[in-house]
Amino acid sequence: MDNKLERSADERLKGYAKDWKIFIDTCSLLSDNMEALLNHLLPYLKQYDNKLIVPYRCIQELEKFIPDGNNISRGEKAKITRDNVINLYKSGVVDIRGEQSDNFADNVFLTVFTKFRLKYNLLLITQDNNLAKDILNINNSKSVKAYPVQALRVNKYGFLSPFRWEEYEGSGKYSKENKGKFKICSQLTDVSVEVVPVQKIPCENDYVKTNRGSICLKEKIAAGGEGTIYATNTPYVAKIYKAEKITERKQRKLELMLTKKVDCTGICYPVDIIYNKYDEFVGFLMPPAKGKELQKAIFIPPLLKKTFPTWKKRDLVELAVTILNKIKFLNDMNIIMGDINPLNILVVSSKEVFFVDTDSYQIEDFPCPVGTVNYTAPEIQGRKFTDFLRTIGNENFAIATLLFMLMLPGKPPYSQQGGANPSENIKKMDFSYPFGDNSNKKTPDGPWRFMWSHLTYRLKKAFYNTFTKDGEYAQEHCRLSADKWLVLFNEYLNLLDTGKFGEQDKMSEDLFPTRFKKNPNITYITCKICSKEAEEHLSQNGICKSCLNEGERYKCKRCGKELIFTNYQKYIKQTKKFDFCPECFAWGNDAYTTVRCSDCTASFIITNNEYSYYMSKGLQLPRRCRRCREMKKNRW
Ligand SMILES: [Zn+2]
Ligand SMILES: [Zn+2]
Ligand SMILES: [Zn+2]
Repeated sequence: MDNKLERSADERLKGYAKDWKIFIDTCSLLSDNMEALLNHLLPYLKQYDNKLIVPYRCIQELEKFIPDGNNISRGEKAKITRDNVINLYKSGVVDIRGEQSDNFADNVFLTVFTKFRLKYNLLLITQDNNLAKDILNINNSKSVKAYPVQALRVNKYGFLSPFRWEEYEGSGKYSKENKGKFKICSQLTDVSVEVVPVQKIPCENDYVKTNRGSICLKEKIAAGGEGTIYATNTPYVAKIYKAEKITERKQRKLELMLTKKVDCTGICYPVDIIYNKYDEFVGFLMPPAKGKELQKAIFIPPLLKKTFPTWKKRDLVELAVTILNKIKFLNDMNIIMGDINPLNILVVSSKEVFFVDTDSYQIEDFPCPVGTVNYTAPEIQGRKFTDFLRTIGNENFAIATLLFMLMLPGKPPYSQQGGANPSENIKKMDFSYPFGDNSNKKTPDGPWRFMWSHLTYRLKKAFYNTFTKDGEYAQEHCRLSADKWLVLFNEYLNLLDTGKFGEQDKMSEDLFPTRFKKNPNITYITCKICSKEAEEHLSQNGICKSCLNEGERYKCKRCGKELIFTNYQKYIKQTKKFDFCPECFAWGNDAYTTVRCSDCTASFIITNNEYSYYMSKGLQLPRRCRRCREMKKNRW
């Protein structure tokens, strides 16, 4: 820092010490350059009888770090800092303010600054980009008498600097102009997949290095098999790999990824590489994601109804269009997503989605090392994903599968074979949804058949020909691209939004239709019982097929088994309602016992029904056969 700059930085610091109330945040207290700042600032504070204000909550935050067994150096640093602040308090240059009950230091600053800017000039010293933005935002709320508020960070010279947002919002070192595409490669990279040992995996509140300078890891957002995602003091989030996941191949691939600008809202593509304090590669920086995983928001029908209760089919189709546009963007740059699956796509609305886990994408000769069975094309089933490069044909199979599972929420195209191995089903390509007269007669029952029948003709044709063994688009090199699917889905969306599709059959607009799509060559009636539309030729006397098989439910008088007196029996056959189930009816006519007639000595049978009758009347069982009883009666 040259003398002139240093003098003006010092002058500004003096100005703040003279006229401003100066607050400081935990992350600045912990910053490496805090000591230098205090050396510059304290003499002025004493000169103007001012104090540096530390919220009580920041002391608590420091104390929270102290007994940290996992991070001894941070714990020690927090302890030294805490003791330092207490000493400065005792010597009268620091004021500790606030209550034990203050929630978050960040909230404390916002509340205090909003309130006291009417009385004082307020300055917050923080290293936290987001907090600084929030504080500076207070200036935007109009108040006639308020003073402006200021937020500055401690710089490496021990003075205060404004935040440089443009560092993160504009172009970084890597992604400057390169708008071109990546190369298409056929030969796998030979960069090593050996684990590279590092001296330290950074964690919460650690400072890490990027090509744009030092940043601070904030709270943990998510943790997965590969590593942990942290918020940072920038608009981006950081993915820090687990120690056993750090390889040279990962680093080289990320470096390659950063040579092109991939600027598409919703694709959480790396923007910078992260190194620990020993300059070892440990992760990368990317835009944050929002929304729920496709798996949870869409692929389980009850959760879909709960997450998006007002959705119609058009919203699902619009979601497919939104997703397809992003896939097309990537494929157009020769990026193969590879591991397309419902956990890597997050949904906010039908118009807003986020693609995550982008570091697994296949870029040039770096493969996508992961995948799932359902989305893997038949020709590469069972292969090890780290050992080969996927083709756009492989990718197009995954795209088709994703689209099918969006239209029939969560239902994979080859799921009908039940217990069989899903990988075998895909290799056989025995697709079970009918198209025209073609069907393997194994279509899954119920709502799936209905949903399939309500798709557009062109979409059914495309799916059928992609998933059926001898279909027109079944082979790797003939499959439809994201581009081609976009045409079909935009057409579908248009048919739904203009109401043209609904004119043929209103139920086609529903997410979960309850019958097949209406056929224009068939007459429909309104069922007298359920009031639903039904095919006339399958109905009788105005009653639909399913109502004919339904009816009054009651219990067998003997065994209690449930019986149905169907509407068919009641209204069409007009039979009477039986008291007993068929088994109990047959049992009634079986023999209870055989008796020898006391007159003629012939054997005769007493049935179960007769036995029950005599018992219920309190009568003795007859001793004579029917014939002798008749004769005896006539004799009188
Ligand atoms: Zn009915
Ligand atoms: Zn019975
Ligand atoms: Zn007899």
